[in-house]
Amino acid sequence: MKTAVTLTGHERALYARQMRLPEVGEGGQVNIKNAKVLLIGAGGLGSPAALYLVAAGVGTIGIADPDKVDLSNLHRQIIHGFDTLGLPKTISAAESLKELNPGAEIILHPEGLTAENALELVSRYDVVVDGADNFATRFLAADACVLAKKPLVHGSVLRGEGQVGTFLPNHGCYRCVYPTIPDASSVPTCSEAGVLGATCGVIGSWMAAETLAILLKQRQQSQMFVINVAEGRSQKISIAQDSHCPVCGKSPQISEIRAENYQSSVCETPHLNMKESPLEISVTEAHQQLSSAQPPVLIDVRETDEHAIGHVAQARLIPLADIPNQLANIPQNRPVLIICHHGGRSMRATQFLRSKGYVLATNIKGGIDAWSLQVDPQIPRY
Ligand SMILES: [Zn+2]
Repeated sequence: MKTAVTLTGHERALYARQMRLPEVGEGGQVNIKNAKVLLIGAGGLGSPAALYLVAAGVGTIGIADPDKVDLSNLHRQIIHGFDTLGLPKTISAAESLKELNPGAEIILHPEGLTAENALELVSRYDVVVDGADNFATRFLAADACVLAKKPLVHGSVLRGEGQVGTFLPNHGCYRCVYPTIPDASSVPTCSEAGVLGATCGVIGSWMAAETLAILLKQRQQSQMFVINVAEGRSQKISIAQDSHCPVCGKSPQISEIRAENYQSSVCETPHLNMKESPLEISVTEAHQQLSSAQPPVLIDVRETDEHAIGHVAQARLIPLADIPNQLANIPQNRPVLIICHHGGRSMRATQFLRSKGYVLATNIKGGIDAWSLQVDPQIPRY
């Protein structure tokens, strides 16, 4: 996008209510329009941050996120929806952002922020907004910003509490506050801790506000806010550059990005390493899996009257026609086996679930009929 010096009449109308603020005005709105913001993570924090930044008129937004939209994301990651389940988060987010502000340029980085691309990626933007859900990416973003001399807006959330940090070049960085990556075992993971979507909304929106403050040249110092949403308290912490800081101090140990320094896996969502299950398995394999210490979820997609004739004990009955309405009750991050009478309906259900991102959904070949013949003759055939 070319550097703009003025606004169009359409833009003046679109942003009239925020341009009325003395700190914005026409000049501030032009700055916002010319800004390039890199968003790391289109998740719980990235969703509200991206929506508010694009709505405010940020001209170029880059989205770096390697994940796909999962059902368990939707309660807090409001940029995504049921219609984009299973899609890359970059694509899903871009769809929402384009709808909100068709004038914005959205650049997708579906590879996410990596040690290999961090410096180059960060260098292409004016401000970096980090809503990553793991410490490895958080420290990577923070170090890359110091090395590339870019301002960083950091956000994180744990249970009812969150933090928003604004780190300006030469005014104290994330490592001035947190010198080293915490040990994975010392910090609860996101999935263990749990979080309300609205808490992410507060922190993510606050991150957007800090980003706009930087673009409007309203920030001269690094600072951090600790916000206890659950108890309704917040505290501002001024940050000064620490001369002993490992990356921005007087004799820094970190002067380049090396992959081995960003290995922590805290808060990484389990489905990142999720391998696809086979599309179909035999009744004997299914029986083995169901008898194991960590059995898969078993869903019977037959009708109620068929189920009444006989069924596998742990099966949950969800007739085929109800599957699309019951996605909220089918876990996406656990293996799911599907059974019907002969294997036809269950294959349709499996393929439908696969199309919605359920890479761990597997059909049971031959259905309950084969089960009765090969596993449990007590189940009557019909
Ligand atoms: Zn520092």
